[in-house]
Order: sequence, then C-alpha cells, then structure tokens
Amino acid sequence: DQSLAELDPEIAAVLEGELTRQRETLEMIASENFVPRAVLQAQGSVLTNKYAEGYPGRRYYGGCEQVDIAENLAISRASSLFGAEYVNVQPHSGAQANAAVLHALIKPGDTILGLQLAHGGHLTHGMKINFSGKLYNVASYGVDEQTHRIDYDALRAKALEARPQVIIAGWSAYPRHLDFEAFRSIADEVGAYLWTDMAHFAGLVAAGLHPNPIPHSHVVSSTVHKTLGGPRSGVIFSRDKETFGKKLDSAVFPGQQGGPLMHVIAAKAVAFKVAAGEEFAERQRQTIAGAQILAERLTATDVSSAGVSVLTGGTDVHLVLVDLRHSDLDGQQAEDLLHAAGITVNRNAVPFDPRPPRVTSGLRIGTPALASRGFGEAEFTEVADIIGGVLAAGTGADLDAARARVKALTDAFPLYPGLQQ
Ligand code: PLP
Repeated sequence: DQSLAELDPEIAAVLEGELTRQRETLEMIASENFVPRAVLQAQGSVLTNKYAEGYPGRRYYGGCEQVDIAENLAISRASSLFGAEYVNVQPHSGAQANAAVLHALIKPGDTILGLQLAHGGHLTHGMKINFSGKLYNVASYGVDEQTHRIDYDALRAKALEARPQVIIAGWSAYPRHLDFEAFRSIADEVGAYLWTDMAHFAGLVAAGLHPNPIPHSHVVSSTVHKTLGGPRSGVIFSRDKETFGKKLDSAVFPGQQGGPLMHVIAAKAVAFKVAAGEEFAERQRQTIAGAQILAERLTATDVSSAGVSVLTGGTDVHLVLVDLRHSDLDGQQAEDLLHAAGITVNRNAVPFDPRPPRVTSGLRIGTPALASRGFGEAEFTEVADIIGGVLAAGTGADLDAARARVKALTDAFPLYPGLQQ
C-alpha cells in the first residue's frame, strides 16, 4: 500500500510540477478554472472503485446505496441551480454529453445547423471529422463580417434553406450573449429542436449574470469544468422531462456510455452546491469585470496603434477574443510571448482569418481561473496592463519585467495554500 511518490515517482513528479506551474503562472485559458479543494477531494476518492451502470434506484450492480445518494444530490442540486426539470449528470465529458443529445434527438443522416468552427463553434457542432460531422448532415451559420456578431436574419435564412432537424446555439469562442428567444423562434419556424450548448457560460448562468437558455431550449448540454468551476465532465438538462427524459437517459446509458464515473459525479454534486452560493456569484461578477477590463485595455490607443483589437469591441462574458489580423504578431507568436511572460492563453482563429489555422490571427483570453484565485478589479487591471504592454511591444517586449510583475501577482494570491501533491 505505497504512496504515489513511492510507487510511481515519475507521475508524482508530474503532479508536483503541474501544481507548481499552476501556482506560478497566470492561467488565462478561457475554458479552464481552479476547482475548490473539496472537489479535488471528492474526485480523488474511493468512489472511483464503484461500478454503477444504470440510474439511481435502477442499477445493474449491487452495492450502489452510497453512490445513489451522491447522484441524486448532484441531480437535485443542478436542477434547482439552473431551473431544469430533467438533469443527467452521467456524461463523462462535454463531447459525450453532446453525442448523447444528438443521439436522443435525431437519426444519422438528419441535418444539424451549428455555428462554424472557424467562427467560434465547437467540434461537436458539426466539424467534418468529429462524430457530429460524420453521422449527420451539417449546415452552418457564421458571424457577420463587420460586427463579428451572429446575424439572426442570416441564421434564419440559413435555417429556411437547410431545414435542419436540430439548431445548435452555443460556442467555444464568442464574446457576447446569445438571443435564445430568436434562436427558438427560428427553430419553431422550421420545425427543428433547439439544443443549446452552454459549456462555456454555464457558471455565468448559475450566478444569474447571463440569460438562461433552459426555458427557451428543448435540450441544453454543458461541461462542468469551465466557468462552472467543477470537475472535468458533462451534464444535460431539459425543461421537459416527459418528452425528453427517457430518450436522453437511454442515449447516455447505454447509448453512449457504460458505467458512470461516480467519483466525478460526487465532485459535480459538490460543485453545484458551491455554485449556489453568494461567494460563487461574486466570483462570476469578478470574472466578467476582469474580461471587460481586459477588453478595455486591449482597445486603448497604445495597443490599437500596434494593430491589436478585440472582436466586437468588448465582451459580455468571461473571455475576450483578441484580433491580430492587423498586427505584426500572429496568434502563435503572441501566445509564445505571453507564455514567456508567465501568462497562459491559447491562440485562436478569428472569423475570416487570413492566416492558417496552425498560427491563426487571434488569441482567446479568459478570466475564470484568475477570478477563482481571488483576483479582483485591481489585479485584472494589472494583468491587462501586462498583456497590453507585451502585445503592443511585440518581439521587443521586456519579458523579464513582465515576468516580475506576474510573479508579484501569483505570490500575492497563493493557489491551494498548503496543498501537496
Ligand atoms: N461544448 C463546448 C461549447 C465546448 O467549448 C467544449 C470544450 O471545449 C465542449 C463542448 C467539450 O467538452 P469536453 O472537452 O469536456 O469534451
């Protein structure tokens, strides 16, 4: 019965190294977050030992009395948090939740209409070599070339032309609220289901800071690990249990998955409990405020004169999309420079990107992890200043000075103090 360090020092070193990396850098990947310690604890627990195929009270394995309690708590907490009559907490990931949604709603060969990948959509919304692009006939909508926002008249025209069975609202890189009522009215007009994938903005919805798609959608899927700040996993909701409940349950199990990850489901229950609290709501407010400070700084004169701007001119959510089409820096160079300064972001194609997807002309920068770390407006102003300075100076940036400023911030906000891997 050896410890990890005794049994496998190589993997123990990875855990230690990753904890140090997370502590000593500014984590600004928009889809990442830092989970509460209680979530780490539930996820790293003996529940990983348990098989529990089926659903609470209807399992195919004995000994499920404890895990049934965990799954029922996860369901009831998520249901009251988001106002959904039906919840399935078993999807192992966002992609698997999405596979189950399509499996439940339509047949292979039917048509789906989602936001183009290059305009901020997700792989599971119809990318060619993803299951969604292989099993279904794919039509897509994009953003307007001038405003970079979804043009609902163009979306409607596309829906009337493609006659999809499912319309997908949701994104991986889009800085504005969606108009769920407009989506639903278009879906109703063409007789399609409306499926919303709120993976990115679920935490903002939970805090009441973003329109809730559940009342307007037939089905909603999400991840739990982005703004929502829980374990890496997926979840499915519907406001209409009678119509969709059985279909969604059987699409998840046995349609897409075998045994649920009960340690992760317990950790989801913890995360939903946290997300119902005032402290969580305050963190989501700081998340949005931080992104807005970033957008403001990155559109200031000294930065914009270096050809840097922000898509749509600002943000309503937890991320900004930096537009480098007029900058000497491409996305790869900008990502590398910020990495050298101790700031982790990802390059991201912008709509109508002239540069190839390998380098891109954009950056996606998110604030959820730093807000979870305790950053408020003063710290986000300093972060925005460091990033703005590096992007404006480009390859001439003083990276030593930037790194020292990053270190002052990470030292002032210790991550998981006392935790040892
Ligand atoms: N849906 C959206 C909108 C996403 O952005 C993502 C993740 O990036 C997913 C689904 C997939 O989640 P996962 O990585 O857990 O499969």
